[in-house]
Amino acid sequence: MELRRVRLPFRVPIRSSLGTSRWRDVLLVRVGTPGGDGWGECAALAEPTYSAEYVEGAAGVLRHHLVPLLMATTGGDVDAASVGPALAGVRGHPMAKAALETAVLDAELRAAGVSLARYLGATRTVVEAGVAVGMSSSVGALLDEVAAAVDEGFRRVKLKVAPGWDVEPVRAVRERFGDDLLVQADANGAYRLSDATHLAALDPFGLVLIEQPLEPDDLVGSAELARRIRTPVCLDESITSAEVAARAIAMGAVAVVNVKPGRVGGFLEARRVHDTCVAAGVAAWCGGMFETGLARSANLALAALPGFSLPGDLSPPSRYLAGDLVAPLVATDGSLAVPDRPGVGPDLRPDALREHTTGSERVPLG
Ligand SMILES: [Mg+2]
Repeated sequence: MELRRVRLPFRVPIRSSLGTSRWRDVLLVRVGTPGGDGWGECAALAEPTYSAEYVEGAAGVLRHHLVPLLMATTGGDVDAASVGPALAGVRGHPMAKAALETAVLDAELRAAGVSLARYLGATRTVVEAGVAVGMSSSVGALLDEVAAAVDEGFRRVKLKVAPGWDVEPVRAVRERFGDDLLVQADANGAYRLSDATHLAALDPFGLVLIEQPLEPDDLVGSAELARRIRTPVCLDESITSAEVAARAIAMGAVAVVNVKPGRVGGFLEARRVHDTCVAAGVAAWCGGMFETGLARSANLALAALPGFSLPGDLSPPSRYLAGDLVAPLVATDGSLAVPDRPGVGPDLRPDALREHTTGSERVPLG
């Protein structure tokens, strides 16, 4: 078992209500098995801003708790389905758990010659991708960035919003690009229920949805806000499991669910969130964490499930990262092919892995 740290520069710094990032620090988990290696990319960011998890903390909980617990519970006879139950005694840390489960699943699928898409039950061979655009220094700069995405063939753009950067940029994008462009906003929890009247000012612009307007814990407020604005309320940070998704849907707190495997503890739980949405007739889409091509390829397989009815954050990493760990993903007219090779993700390029590695440690297995 290896924990490897890599660092890739963002093409341009990413600004959201959470702050500004210049680098993507990534934790990779590698499990060595008699049948070959499996890799998992942890979704955690360097800072605990999107959620409580962060790279250093994820490495710590893997090293000191998750790996020893998995080995003690399973005796080393591990398959992907056994990882979640074995780690259930550790509260929280879904991204660290997901990285471990993904590495095990990758090794398992490679040995079996099965692609993640087939394992999950994907029904599409191509998925439509949307682009996420950070907050810009000016409305003009934002329009330039959106124009570049539209020129590349993307039909959906997600704008990061926060108090002071919401109605004006949304209005400008709608006026410049017309009603055919799918536009959605992501607040990362920056508003309070007392902002409901202000958020209703977004109603005339026909947003596909507003993502995580209120704090992650505020499902009651989200249900009330959903009654007070016309823009469909989507939840991202709030949805930590299929059970929470079912609760949020029942409360009327969510009309559209953003599914991220890292945020819910792995691809197996992500599929359960998808199934919960399908059963409830709620739309879903696959969110992004500015992953490298390793995790983004895996997300393409997830997004090929039938219930993902809206374009996800699945643009090629070359749009936001200078460099990648795998062969570049390529979009054609805003869509990407669903990988069909065995395993969760594509093969890592050894030279790129070496170039971007900032640290590596072996975790003793007991
Ligand atoms: Mg989000």
